[in-house]
Amino acid sequence: MEENKEVMSSNFIHSFIDEDISEGGDYYGKKVHTRFPPEPNGYLHIGHAKAVFVNFGTAEKYNGLCNLRMDDTNPTKEDVEYVDAIKEDIKWLGFDWGDRFYFASDYFEKMYDYAIELIKKGLAYVCELNGEQMREYRGDLNTPAKSPYRDRPVEESLDLFERMRNGEFEDGKMTLRAKIDLASGNFNMRDPVLYRINHMHHHRTGDKWCIYPMYDFAHPIEDALEGITHSLCTLEFEAHRPLYDWVVDNISVDSKPRQIEFARLGINNTVMSKRKLRQLVEENYVNGWDDPRMPTICGLRRRGYTPKAIRSFTDQIGVSKVNSVVEYNFLEHCLRDDLNENAKRAMAVLDPVKLVITNYPEGKTEEFEIENHPQNPEMGTRTVTFSRELYIESTDFMEEPFKKYQRLYPGNEVRIKSAYIVKCTGCKKDGNGNVIEVYAEYDPETRGGNTPDGRKVRGTIHWVNAEDCIDAEVRLYDNLFTVSEPDAGEGEFTDYINPESLVVLKGCKLEKCLAEAEKSDRFQFMRQGYFCIDNDSTKENLIFNRSVSLKDSFKKK
Ligand code: ATP
Ligand code: MG
Repeated sequence: MEENKEVMSSNFIHSFIDEDISEGGDYYGKKVHTRFPPEPNGYLHIGHAKAVFVNFGTAEKYNGLCNLRMDDTNPTKEDVEYVDAIKEDIKWLGFDWGDRFYFASDYFEKMYDYAIELIKKGLAYVCELNGEQMREYRGDLNTPAKSPYRDRPVEESLDLFERMRNGEFEDGKMTLRAKIDLASGNFNMRDPVLYRINHMHHHRTGDKWCIYPMYDFAHPIEDALEGITHSLCTLEFEAHRPLYDWVVDNISVDSKPRQIEFARLGINNTVMSKRKLRQLVEENYVNGWDDPRMPTICGLRRRGYTPKAIRSFTDQIGVSKVNSVVEYNFLEHCLRDDLNENAKRAMAVLDPVKLVITNYPEGKTEEFEIENHPQNPEMGTRTVTFSRELYIESTDFMEEPFKKYQRLYPGNEVRIKSAYIVKCTGCKKDGNGNVIEVYAEYDPETRGGNTPDGRKVRGTIHWVNAEDCIDAEVRLYDNLFTVSEPDAGEGEFTDYINPESLVVLKGCKLEKCLAEAEKSDRFQFMRQGYFCIDNDSTKENLIFNRSVSLKDSFKKK
């Protein structure tokens, strides 16, 4: 994957870092150290790829380090399956955390100690308001919040907090709150909750804990303990930054990470929250997290996306402070860019009809050497055989052509790609009027598809030799949703699922070289798009996915 790596384009985060590491800056002489902190409650999606790219890419750019940390402070839903998948996806994208793989839950004991430190300093207290009362006492812009427990003695809070830990109280009975500012204009600073009681099994710590730290308390501690210099996160945390700084400033840690926020990535015609993606999987709208229609990294990988295409996409959309929705087309455009250069060419007939060359000798077979890439001789050539019976696309014949139709119709000449010029002589139909065979005569003088007399042949069609082609299933994909913003409309986002997002074609006829295709191979099937082998494919039952079609609606715009 090394060759895929290009240095990340500069953005506003890098300007901040440049200042921080220059003489007089807060991190002068220090290695830039970032982290990517996914919550292991689902698979990574293309939005995460942006965050992966921002964190790991920035570390790479500054020759620094980036940690991978599972943010598992929330005891619900986390799963080992997700942990493994997240690692696999990040590696596949071409990033490496070295030996710095952590779990936030590993710091639970330390977090507890810091909580005690805050209580002792008079900066935290145990509050007995329940959730409903807490909302009621929250106040508004003109009214400060209130808590009758705010001024309870330190000793009392210490005692209650310990008993919270020991499991003496039921869920929701009390919380530990920071003592900051009940009148703050920033509601995150109105004595935010640091710990809550939650008698729940944790996927790593088991039943050891029944109190769990809140994200806003845990995250800055995790960052500080790991020596993170720059904590790069999405915009929704901007209003939480004062609390992040407050935590780091008030506990005994040596390092003081700086949080910088950037805009989330949104893409149209899809959904991007793990909760919704999980719903699609659990309610069987798709066939698993790696369904090629999913915007997950594993779905995109199965669809045929390359790490290079995804990295190029995340780099080109840029990093800014303004949330925006990127067109799905642009992601596809980035894939085409890569595959146009790197995919081998081949021929595949997706909806076949037989073409019989009536004047071609029976039993004869010819071989043609065809280059695997028109612009790149290094990709070599392959042998394609030609004989009396071929398969062509059924749409490449029309008994009664419409105006400007330049493919096969009685009396018209067409180029059989790289082989010969043939002239259509007619067809045979079944009882229902469906064409079952097309007939043509070839011109032996046109070997290679050239016309020595210079006559013009407009249409060129792809084909395979009926004698040695192979059968395959081909899966075509379209947007998973019929509307641009499925989660912005009325009703459930699942109401907008595109019923034609998956079309399965059986009995497709492929060039025989494709029998040897490897899972990592990428192909351009002439006139059809870019394809790869699907995970379900076997030697006996070949399955190809269309990664993306050829036409680029993005360029046109
Ligand atoms: P989701 O809403 O999809 O569940 P999340 O933010 O809860 O996302 P996390 O596992 O907590 O998911 O995310 C890990 C990191 O990835 C966070 O730093 C988060 O900011 C970032 N991230 C998540 N979604 C996006 C996105 N769409 N664009 C950019 N970064 C994202
Ligand atoms: Mg989250």
